[in-house]
Amino acid sequence: MEKYILALDQGTTSSRAMVFDRRGNIVGSAHQEFAQIYPKAGWVEHDPSDLYGSQMGVIAEALIHANADISQIAAIGITNQRETTLVWDKDTGKPVYNAIVWQCRRTADYCEELKRNGLSGYIYDKTGLVIDAYFSATKIKWILDNVAGARQRAEQGKLLFGTVDTFLMWRLSGGKIFATDYTNASRTMLFNIHTLCWDKDLLKLFDIPECMLPQVYPSGYAFGTTSQQFIGNVPICSAVGDQQAALFGHLCVNKGDLKNTYGTGCFLLMNTGDVAVKSDNGLLTTLAACLDGKPQYVLEGSVFIAGAIVQWLRDGLLVIRNASESEEYADKVPDTDGVYVVPAFTGMGAPYWDADVRGTITGITRGTTRAHVIRAALEAIDYQVYDVVSAMQRDAAIKITQLNVDGGASVNNFLMQFQADLLDAEVIRPQITDTTALGACYLAGLTAGYWTSVDDIRRNISAVSRFQPSMTQQHRDKLLEGWHKAVRQARCK
Ligand code: ADP
Repeated sequence: MEKYILALDQGTTSSRAMVFDRRGNIVGSAHQEFAQIYPKAGWVEHDPSDLYGSQMGVIAEALIHANADISQIAAIGITNQRETTLVWDKDTGKPVYNAIVWQCRRTADYCEELKRNGLSGYIYDKTGLVIDAYFSATKIKWILDNVAGARQRAEQGKLLFGTVDTFLMWRLSGGKIFATDYTNASRTMLFNIHTLCWDKDLLKLFDIPECMLPQVYPSGYAFGTTSQQFIGNVPICSAVGDQQAALFGHLCVNKGDLKNTYGTGCFLLMNTGDVAVKSDNGLLTTLAACLDGKPQYVLEGSVFIAGAIVQWLRDGLLVIRNASESEEYADKVPDTDGVYVVPAFTGMGAPYWDADVRGTITGITRGTTRAHVIRAALEAIDYQVYDVVSAMQRDAAIKITQLNVDGGASVNNFLMQFQADLLDAEVIRPQITDTTALGACYLAGLTAGYWTSVDDIRRNISAVSRFQPSMTQQHRDKLLEGWHKAVRQARCK
């Protein structure tokens, strides 16, 4: 009977399960959304039983779609929303509080206090992270400080902390596996990315007992098996944070390999090999997925507004009816005729880090049409990606030649071609754009011996679309000069 790999993708808004065959094709999949809980402005929570329940539901559904039995699953791989924080009782499994989601801002004031106390450099040197409420450390502290009796129970060794991967593995194994991987650990702001250990100084700073933390392993690792009681004994062979999973899904396993996910925002990750590159541009230094104890590092940067500007064209400006129409309009004109859109709806991230700047459209003349503005909005996504990639290249002293892409907006051919032109690099778009699940699948399959090597996987990959740069340096320089001028105008107070 044919064997498969089952990838579980526990995201921010939905749980997915996908059954992959040896050629990396999806033979069955299912997804289910779950409730977002907003108890106060800026607070975001998930009900842990929704996370687990929806995940179990989609496993069953995906297997039915694949017409496969659980005994045909050679290994399970898990990928998950990063940083989201759960604390539960070791004996009963009962969470002491809802999962606090990465987006939740409840600890923002405390983070500001840490910054005022001059701890930014200290924390960055150990964790590669900038102090922010995103990361798990301050969320765990909040639970211990605010849930009655929690701190005392944690100190007595009665409570466990986990990110979503840890929680799922613990549940699926009936409490036998209490573990996480380097990529998830590196987003807690408690893990020293250089020594690969929970950092005792940080645990002291945040007043978090070490006994509540899971064991940390490489992302591809035989973590244990699921419990017969739930779905039968299946080995869990990978756990990996979503962005690093996507990087692995593109098989970006070598120094200089780079991926970008074009979703609502963009997430860029560059593999920097065995060197933890320090950023001068506010990029994060974090751990990549690996299959052995040898860590690989990545530089990570993001763009706040990417596909979101296409939603704004559709729902705010009402100039397109659906996202794909943006490509038709962009192709109607040879250029933007000097129009630039700076989509700083919520400030700008790397390399500008300007929270006060707001969106601007510049260069409008009597001849400006809807097509020019739509094209300028799409180009703005690529310009922002260009700025982050340039910062990465400077920080890592690496010149990139290729960009691997995925995410909802990567289907836009205009967007991909203009990106290739701006970066003067080839843009590679795989046929299967569920790269996150694919990454967890590859890691699990390699660990379980389903595939023998990365090259073995590469041989199986189906067609990709390639976009070659075809712009002169002179033209590129002129366009970039215009963009940077527009950014300066937007930031002018
Ligand atoms: P997320 O995971 O952040 O929700 P997705 O990867 O599902 O995002 O991508 C959705 C985003 O992609 C939306 O912001 C949407 O506007 C954008 N998008 C979808 N199709 C296109 C398209 N053809 N051209 C440009 N943008 C698109």
